[in-house]
Amino acid sequence: MRSLSSIEEWRAYCEEVRRAGGRVGLVATMGALHEGHASLFERARRDGTVVVATIFVNPRQFNDDGDLRSYPRTPRDDRAMARRHGVDCLVEPRLDEMWPDYPRPTATTVSVRGVGDGFEGDGRPGHFDGVASVVAKLLTITGPCAAYFGEKDFQQVAVVRAMVRDLGFAVTVVACPIVREPDGLALSSRNRRLSPRGRERATALSRALARAAREPATASEVRATLRATLEEAGVEVAYADVVDPVRLVPAGDDEAGERRALVAGIIDGVRLIDNGPVTLVAREA
Ligand code: AMP
Repeated sequence: MRSLSSIEEWRAYCEEVRRAGGRVGLVATMGALHEGHASLFERARRDGTVVVATIFVNPRQFNDDGDLRSYPRTPRDDRAMARRHGVDCLVEPRLDEMWPDYPRPTATTVSVRGVGDGFEGDGRPGHFDGVASVVAKLLTITGPCAAYFGEKDFQQVAVVRAMVRDLGFAVTVVACPIVREPDGLALSSRNRRLSPRGRERATALSRALARAAREPATASEVRATLRATLEEAGVEVAYADVVDPVRLVPAGDDEAGERRALVAGIIDGVRLIDNGPVTLVAREA
């Protein structure tokens, strides 16, 4: 496995892969790697790409300094994990190269309206500007590639897709399924900050989604099921909604068909998100 940090070497590596007739598969992460990240590495490998993984804890996407400071950092384990799961080139860019002006604001910001508003965009002001800006930079440096993202961050995938389409990046966005613990909890680097009690409570997110998916219901009924399951478990609900999976607009009671349920809850001061498919039926008139 190649290990790089300089932007110039990273760009040259990707150019060389393409020159030799290969395809670059980019997996962007913030480290503290787990099986969810590994599933992206493996998918990129199965697709026959040369896997380039980045680890960069992007300060611009944190709206809370405490969250940024306490974000887990496990560089040694990450390198071993990346190697084990077939990463060809691991890039750990330096903050002063990624954001030379930091902590002063950067002149350029990429802001995705519509799908980037609401949900995580509301609960974490500026979060998606930070995400879109860093992903734009990672994609610019990497160049034409397939870029792998987890559906765990469902809204993030929609934001990246919109940006890639609107700005004309030569990138194929590949959305990959959510990897879960045996009890349903979606893997997340933040899970390690939960107390044993909080860890138990956190299963309410996937339980709420599973309950809502059990049988077709109206949008209002789905919202009520999600919220009740979270509240019963003592989870502070940030949102519990059902949306159009592409536009991320909340569904109405007159809608029927496949939609996406999105939940976010705060447990032990840690914000956790999850999502899953649901089937809606229209309310009878
Ligand atoms: P992060 O390091 O949290 O920024 O995540 C990097 C990438 O891994 C993002 O595309 C995430 O959606 C994806 N990811 C994180 N957790 C999971 C999971 N449990 N299942 C699938 N993908 C995940």
